[in-house]
Amino acid sequence: STHLVWFRNDLRVHDNYALHAACRSPDAKVIGIFVVTPEQWHQHVMAPKQAEFIFEHLQALGHALAGRGIELHIRQVADFTASVACIKDFCAEQNVGALFYNYQYEVNERARDAAMEKALEGKVTLQGFDDSLLLAPGSVTTGNQEMYKVFTPFSKAFIRRLQEGLPECVPAPKARGEVHFNEHFDFDVPREAFDRDIFPAGEQEAIGMLRKFCLQPAADYQEQRDFPAIEGTSRLSPYLAIGVLSPRQCLHRLLKEHPKALEGEAGATWLNELIWREFYRHLIVAYPKLCRHRPFIAWTDNVRWSEDEALLEAWKQGKTGYPIVDAAMRQLNTTGWMHNRLRMVVASFLVKDLLIDWRHGERYFMSRLIDGDLAANNGGWQWAASTGTDAAPYFRIFNPTTQGERFDADGRFIRHWLPELQQVPGKHIHSPWDWAAKQKRTLDYPRPIVDHKQARLKTLAAYEAARK
Ligand code: FAD
Repeated sequence: STHLVWFRNDLRVHDNYALHAACRSPDAKVIGIFVVTPEQWHQHVMAPKQAEFIFEHLQALGHALAGRGIELHIRQVADFTASVACIKDFCAEQNVGALFYNYQYEVNERARDAAMEKALEGKVTLQGFDDSLLLAPGSVTTGNQEMYKVFTPFSKAFIRRLQEGLPECVPAPKARGEVHFNEHFDFDVPREAFDRDIFPAGEQEAIGMLRKFCLQPAADYQEQRDFPAIEGTSRLSPYLAIGVLSPRQCLHRLLKEHPKALEGEAGATWLNELIWREFYRHLIVAYPKLCRHRPFIAWTDNVRWSEDEALLEAWKQGKTGYPIVDAAMRQLNTTGWMHNRLRMVVASFLVKDLLIDWRHGERYFMSRLIDGDLAANNGGWQWAASTGTDAAPYFRIFNPTTQGERFDADGRFIRHWLPELQQVPGKHIHSPWDWAAKQKRTLDYPRPIVDHKQARLKTLAAYEAARK
């Protein structure tokens, strides 16, 4: 019989549960499909860089599968609704007996899969898998079988579960002949080149990056991860976001190099970040409203946000007059990636200094990030905006100048992204206008668009008014 694998956010041949299951029977003919949905992706504000990243990895996947005797078909339709009809027709056309797919957890994706399951009921055997997570949503709960609302106890319970038994990696399927991959397919989605030196394309490259990171950097991570001028983090997020790598591969590699990471020793801090990724995915399943632009904490919807378009635009362009914020936004705009510390700083700045609705920031990030991921992005924004579960309390407001001084003390990161501040000496780089005034110079750099002290008070008042 014919087995079909519907690839979505799992563009890899190694450790792919759906693909592995489809290939279990040596006699089955196995084929793959990927459905491009430009209108849906547009609605989800997918970044053109991420679209290019997907495109590249579809090419790589198509060739990797063809070498194993599995033909990858690529179809293009408008949106998820149309993709269900497309899969249904394809199954009939190819006489598919069983369909294998890895779950996605966002609401539109789940609605699509529910519709697909209904459309194929009684015609095709369906097998879905929890593949993009270490542990399935709903499997790490409190004594009352509820999702944890706070990260630390979730993480502790999560690690206990891992100590009882690790989720296993499955191998790439063995070759079952060789077929052709037609690499010329429709892909009418806005695309933008990404920097291949930072993000080399291909599954083998991603595995190579993971191996290298797990050698020493994973152990040094705890000390290095907060400094954007240092390459102290893995930069694997784009691969994890579209499933070129699985979190199981990350976990096993980490434990191979640092066997005591689960006991809190070397590597534990990085593992903790992988668990944050799980936490936010488990949360969107337990609280689907998070996918619908709703805050976790309902009263925060009463905050009277500022509708100042000019301020929002200055933030987007990296022209706020706060060097660490601006350097970070330029990093995002140029590379499609931003250091985690800076994501927190710029998100806090937009919400707590400019008093702009976090949803504008969430959306802008999605439209730019090569690693855009609804759960992680929403989680990060709701954390920064103090609207989420286990978020920063609303009265804790980052001071953007101090953040710069702490995490980019000598201004190396800032100077890299803001050449217009090249001349400003080290200790003045975080408040260049004070220096320029003393030197009687002008700078080709904007003055601060808000006064942090005043903005802070205004924001506190706005949150307090909303909470009443
Ligand atoms: P590492 O530090 O090496 O971490 C390893 C992996 O763990 C990452 O690749 C990522 O998959 C995961 N991870 C790390 N930190 C987090 C976190 N806080 N939450 C969830 N997963 C995490 N991450 C995304 O993948 N996509 C997003 O769209 C996204 N948007 C964010 C928005 C905001 C406002 C904030 C504060 C954070 C956001 N993050 C997002 C989380 C985090 O900033 C990135 O995952 C990280 O910077 C990616 O770099 P890295 O691969 O070097 O991470």
